[in-house]
Amino acid sequence: MDFKSIPFSFLGRPRPRFAFKRRRVFRTLRLEMKLKHWRFDLALKHSWAIATDVQHGALAGKTVYPVVFVELTDSHGRSGLGEGSPSSQYHESHATVAAFLARVEPARLSFDDLAGSLAYLDTLAAGSFPAKCALNLALLDGAAKAAGQAVYDFLGLGFSPRRHVTSFTIGLDTPARMAAKTAEAVAAGLPVLKLKLGGPQDRETFAAVRGAAPQAPIRVDANAAWTTPAEALRHIEWVAADGNVQFVEQPMPPSLPDADWAWLKARSPLPLMGDESYQSAADAERCAHCFHGVNVKLVKTGGLTAGKAALEAARARGLKTMLGCMIESSVLISAGAHLAELTDYLDLDGNILITNDPFRGVCTQLGVLDFEGAATPTGLRCSTAN
Ligand SMILES: [Mg+2]
Repeated sequence: MDFKSIPFSFLGRPRPRFAFKRRRVFRTLRLEMKLKHWRFDLALKHSWAIATDVQHGALAGKTVYPVVFVELTDSHGRSGLGEGSPSSQYHESHATVAAFLARVEPARLSFDDLAGSLAYLDTLAAGSFPAKCALNLALLDGAAKAAGQAVYDFLGLGFSPRRHVTSFTIGLDTPARMAAKTAEAVAAGLPVLKLKLGGPQDRETFAAVRGAAPQAPIRVDANAAWTTPAEALRHIEWVAADGNVQFVEQPMPPSLPDADWAWLKARSPLPLMGDESYQSAADAERCAHCFHGVNVKLVKTGGLTAGKAALEAARARGLKTMLGCMIESSVLISAGAHLAELTDYLDLDGNILITNDPFRGVCTQLGVLDFEGAATPTGLRCSTAN
């Protein structure tokens, strides 16, 4: 039947049979994106605590860290893998991630329309960054695989082999246990340490760590523990006297006024890096006044797309850039490594703080991140561990 020959009398009546069939075929193709998600409890090698845990009386720390993995598969057999690592610091948990994912209509997501897919996710809820991060990673993994490229090439960044060094984080603990963790890291050849401070025995723990690693450059992270500019300056001056501390991350709470930060920045003998103060590219202007650099995390920003924007916005304002992580498997750590070219410092150690990583991707040898051992050349370059 020729479409043009259909009389106007069809308007408002059942459509001709051929048109109905065409519509059904179209709907079937769109509906075949499948979303699978599941909780996985990452097991920590050592108990894990930071200053905010101490404030809640939990120096003993966590031994497991629940994350959520997602897998998207479309009707062409293409698939993408993602991970969200929710942090209680930001009032997120595996349950909040699962609740967001339950609202997602998989048919609205497509490896061929990243911008449209991400815009759809933003209509579902404000925030919810760990869940959005998991889906963003899966969409980019699938899209880059479809293009036959690694994500770092798909994003136009590239990846320099044997150049990107991560720090290794020593969580808050008793001085003796922090010294033992440090000795382990030194024995493993990890060259740069990140030390969590803001606990009840900072001077003793710093001395214990320095005793176990006399030569290692140290980065200090206070996780917002010092509550006034004067208190923060006192601590920073003490830390700076060590002579081999690279910078201090988030010395004070992000809620303090800009004037307090500007006061501290003007006097600090060490560079200040914003972490809790830098959630996304929207914070770049303010952070340029308050800090010397910022720490971007994929889970904070909502994934690779927003993470890349956050790094670029920071650099555009002359800030040093760092890419950090939560406790994460190789899915999120590999994803972060794809943005390494946009960073001055890396803190991508989440997957080497755990004992049951279900995936294998970027590899850390003597602190150097590389994709040489990755099983797959495209997408996030991450696959199931055997
Ligand atoms: Mg931090």
